[in-house]
Amino acid sequence: SIPLGFFGGIGGASRNGILVKGGNYLEALNNVEIVVFDKTGTLTKGVFKVTDVKPQKNISKDELIGFAAHAESYSNHPIATSIVSAYGKEIDKDLIKDYEEISGHGVKVIVEGKEVLAGNNKLMSKENIPFEQFESIGTVVHIAVDKKYVGYIVISDEIKEDSAKVVKALKAIGVKKTVMLTGDNKTVGSKVAKELGLDEVHAELLPDQKVEKLELLDKEKSSKGKLIFVGDGINDAPVLARADIGIAMGGVGSDAAIEAADVVIMTDEPSKIATAIKIAKKTRTIVM
Ligand code: ADP
Ligand code: MG
Repeated sequence: SIPLGFFGGIGGASRNGILVKGGNYLEALNNVEIVVFDKTGTLTKGVFKVTDVKPQKNISKDELIGFAAHAESYSNHPIATSIVSAYGKEIDKDLIKDYEEISGHGVKVIVEGKEVLAGNNKLMSKENIPFEQFESIGTVVHIAVDKKYVGYIVISDEIKEDSAKVVKALKAIGVKKTVMLTGDNKTVGSKVAKELGLDEVHAELLPDQKVEKLELLDKEKSSKGKLIFVGDGINDAPVLARADIGIAMGGVGSDAAIEAADVVIMTDEPSKIATAIKIAKKTRTIVM
């Protein structure tokens, strides 16, 4: 049976916008040693702004964004929604066929009878598109039409104001290690991790590789230690499920993530993780 105090703790958490799906998770929150964050939509706003558009000679900037926006119009990835809103014009969905999202890579879609690819270096390599690879402080979306490279769009996301607090708060309550896992490029990953003071960052990871990294990190815990993974659920449902405590950011997260998670933060503030741990510790004192 669950000690009564845990119900109090769950109520206290919910009044703080934190949904804890059972007393066992509240108990686990007492012993958190490692906190692993997803980047996009979790520590960053997930709202990208276009900072550079570089078409090849055979195409205009408008055409390039047009192809990208049509290709991305069925995706709910923050990158996709940002490109669609940068385009600003109506998307004609009748032009789109055979939409395919390749997780951790990008999208492959038929637009007006042409095959359009929009995604990262990995997508271009996988599809054998010759392109020039370069370092960027932004997220680069390459575009190819009918197997020919037509240019790229650089987009940038901002760190949430609330994220600056979270690492300090977690350290203050005894968390030993904070880590960020991202599918984004190394330059962007390192910049965010450095700015927030995270202990470790691993970039350019596919969803499967995020699970592998999580399993390695899991081995660093003490025997009663727990590991948290926090994500928005887009492309990271497997890691959410694998962690001792999977936390979904409900403010922006997908319904699937909210369902898969053990704890849901109802706002977009990652610092609520520290709040949840504090409530768990207080609850424990009351129970004992
Ligand atoms: P993260 O949440 O860590 O950014 P994701 O697995 O969601 O990781 O995405 C990893 C990378 O895959 C992105 O940074 C981007 O380069 C590429 N990507 C994923 N989805 C899309 C998409 N819809 N359009 C373009 N690129 C995408
Ligand atoms: Mg993600």
